[in-house]
Amino acid sequence: MESALQLSNVTLEYPDGDGTLRALDDVSLELRRGEFVSLVGPSGSGKSSLLAVAATLVRPTSGSVLVTGKETGSLPEARRTALRRDSIGIIFQQPNLLPSLTAVEQLVIAAHLRSEPLREARGKAAALLGRVGLGSMLDKRPHQLSGGQRQRVNIARALMASPAVLLVDEPTAALDYTRSEEIVRLLRQVTDEFGVATLMVTHDTGLVSFTDAVARMRDGRLSAAETLVPAT
Ligand code: ADP
Ligand code: MG
Repeated sequence: MESALQLSNVTLEYPDGDGTLRALDDVSLELRRGEFVSLVGPSGSGKSSLLAVAATLVRPTSGSVLVTGKETGSLPEARRTALRRDSIGIIFQQPNLLPSLTAVEQLVIAAHLRSEPLREARGKAAALLGRVGLGSMLDKRPHQLSGGQRQRVNIARALMASPAVLLVDEPTAALDYTRSEEIVRLLRQVTDEFGVATLMVTHDTGLVSFTDAVARMRDGRLSAAETLVPAT
């Protein structure tokens, strides 16, 4: 299987008073398409920093980040932005939907940024919203949707570019347990169906059982991912 995301010996330092704070300390991680890995660890251990580096939003202090086999560190910013748009879906805790747009428009605008033809984008958006269980909600605006439904729009939007990698930061932090489990089951399904490599930060140890492996962060260091017996 193709390696979708490969981090090798990644270190990230932030200036901190007179010294530096090492948010990531020699982190290596590889995800293949169709793999779903959860990332756990205490607050401040570097989980969001790891996602930001994997998303090519932040350049590491040292080490390399390969997305679909391409080394990203040497790319100029415009090429990194294009690679991110085409290959990486990002899902944060808050869906950040635009209040005035309908569900289908939230997705179409993402395609518009990649210069996809409008008609095709609308068809693809409607199909993806149907896939995440929102086939009857295409024309609803965010305030007409529940928290779980908004997070489903967010997931569908992240899939619009047919990304190789999905990076998900605490997608269920604002949801109750039943809704949370539904969202993680959906992430499991789309990981399998679309063959994306999904890395999900979560607090919730109950949700880890839907993923293939769990990697633990502590003080910027990452343990080797432990493989799990899949839940059904
Ligand atoms: P987590 O997501 O596990 O809670 P973070 O990756 O957000 O952890 O943070 C890891 C460490 O890096 C923390 O000590 C945090 O304060 C620090 N940090 C995160 N972002 C920045 C930043 N932009 N500037 C300075 N320090 C930061
Ligand atoms: Mg965080």
